Amino acid sequence: MELTQRQIDYCMECGVCTGSCPVSRVMPGFSPRQIIKRVLIEEDEDLLRGRDLWACLSCARCSVRCPAEIDFPEFARVCREKARKLGNLPQESHHGILQAVAAFQTFDIRQKRTEWAEGVGTFRDSGEYFYFVGCLPYFDVTFRYLGLSSIEVAHSTLTLLNRMGVEPVVSNEERCCGHDALWSGDEATFRELGRINLEVITASGAKTVIFSCPEGYFTFKHHYPEYFGDLPFEVLHMTEFLARELPGAGLSFRPSSNGAVTYQDPCRLGRMAGVYDPPRDLLRLIPEGRLVEMERSRENALCCGTSAWMECSSCSKAMQMERLSEALRTGAHTLITACPKCQIHLTCAQENTDLKMKVVDIYTFLLQQLDGKEGERA
Ligand code: SF4
Ligand code: SF4
Repeated sequence: MELTQRQIDYCMECGVCTGSCPVSRVMPGFSPRQIIKRVLIEEDEDLLRGRDLWACLSCARCSVRCPAEIDFPEFARVCREKARKLGNLPQESHHGILQAVAAFQTFDIRQKRTEWAEGVGTFRDSGEYFYFVGCLPYFDVTFRYLGLSSIEVAHSTLTLLNRMGVEPVVSNEERCCGHDALWSGDEATFRELGRINLEVITASGAKTVIFSCPEGYFTFKHHYPEYFGDLPFEVLHMTEFLARELPGAGLSFRPSSNGAVTYQDPCRLGRMAGVYDPPRDLLRLIPEGRLVEMERSRENALCCGTSAWMECSSCSKAMQMERLSEALRTGAHTLITACPKCQIHLTCAQENTDLKMKVVDIYTFLLQQLDGKEGERA
């Protein structure tokens, strides 16, 4: 990633990012500006061999404030590719199982990716809409010990689509989007996953691809065109699709009896893609529903503490506790997420604590409030 001389000159006198970075707050010595300086001015190879590059959450809290419009997460991501080539690897969480899952999907494998959908709703092999399920079936198995059912996100998404008269393509051949590989500096795995996904989606004839996961959405929206050229289909996050289509779909919601809820902006959906209003607009469709904002929301939202299943640390836990406390201070008992990883991290952080914040995905929450038999089943 190239920076102009003007950006570099400005940057060396600035420091806005370090003041707003949640990692810098809990990890003394960590500074995005210093990383830029070490790479571009000092050409310090030690940086590529050290841990600072991996500590960045790529949360974009710095880049949305940067007066010189420097995309620091992207800067760090490109450096990670060089670090990996030097043998400097991230510390993988969960024994590396999710990195292994992504890697084996680059092979010619047979998956039972549609099994979860049987009996839940109707789907097809080809058609106008493609529901990109992402890694939910794998998360579901990996994080059951938390009492979470990640696949419920997919159940609710498919049910909502069906209720709106949409029978999407759900494919056995889909692969991980490659987000985590890309942010871990593993470009080769990312490229192969992307190549297969584009082949599969193109063969389905889809004109619109819908994502319940912000990471898949952002990866397709931003990095796929960069690596593979213009895409022959529209890319929509499910909250965008619902906000656009649901009001005219002839569906109605029951009045809420859940009390107030609050909403966690996922970094990829909010700061990185600018999708702040659709999830909020959807929550406001529920009669007598009350959405209360946390002290830090939208551009200021605090990240859920880790990214790409790596470097989960005391720093991550401190951030998660901070975020959960902030959510509880709103008076809400339910924290709504639009990202499966936020849901997993903010649920995990409550293990062995006295915190009791329900963390519910937005699709399941909406479905529970929907009039009709599916709403009752959710
Ligand atoms: S906010 Fe931008 S210009 Fe300022 S130090 Fe950080 S990266 Fe450099
Ligand atoms: S992306 Fe987030 S974690 Fe990384 S330097 Fe910027 S603010 Fe800090």
